[in-house]
Amino acid sequence: MKIRCVQGDITKVTADIIVNAANTSLLGGGGVDGAIHKAGGKTILEECIKIRNKQGGCKTGEAVITTGGLLPAKYVIHTVGSVWNGGSNNEEELLKNCYSNSLKLAKEHNAKSIAFPNISTGIYKFPKEKAALIAVNTIKENPIIDEVIFVCYDDENYGVYKKLLYMFVMI
Ligand code: ADP
Repeated sequence: MKIRCVQGDITKVTADIIVNAANTSLLGGGGVDGAIHKAGGKTILEECIKIRNKQGGCKTGEAVITTGGLLPAKYVIHTVGSVWNGGSNNEEELLKNCYSNSLKLAKEHNAKSIAFPNISTGIYKFPKEKAALIAVNTIKENPIIDEVIFVCYDDENYGVYKKLLYMFVMI
């Protein structure tokens, strides 16, 4: 398994699957969610609405899949990160579930590569270093996809991931 981080816009990344930090409504929102729906076109939202009508949205920590619409990726996995609320409300376990459930779903769709944004570290206010540790550890515990790319948008996340992945290679 190869793990790396890049800085940039996840909608431009060529991977079999990109992951969206969605919300429970699956109807789109701000941040990376807004960027994915804007770049991916309306079919992604139409598929999200179908899923919502069938199962009533997506719970925190769970993941659903749509096609990639106009994006370079074949599929988009929509997972719902946990809102940081001090840390004693199961936030860490729920964020871990986002990564493990996304990996499982990606494997079921025969993905060889998957790109993750820094789930929960924007509007949901999860501490960035803590979130990155959970992300990298969960990937290490579930080495089922050949290539994992962390796409960091802001400088702080990119710095945190570079440091963490460097340590990971050393260990
Ligand atoms: P959440 O609600 O899960 O916190 P956000 O979209 O607010 O989701 O933020 C999650 C992360 O996505 C943040 O680190 C933010 O900097 C990043 N982000 C925002 N736009 C993009 C983009 N186009 N590509 C990749 N990451 C993005």
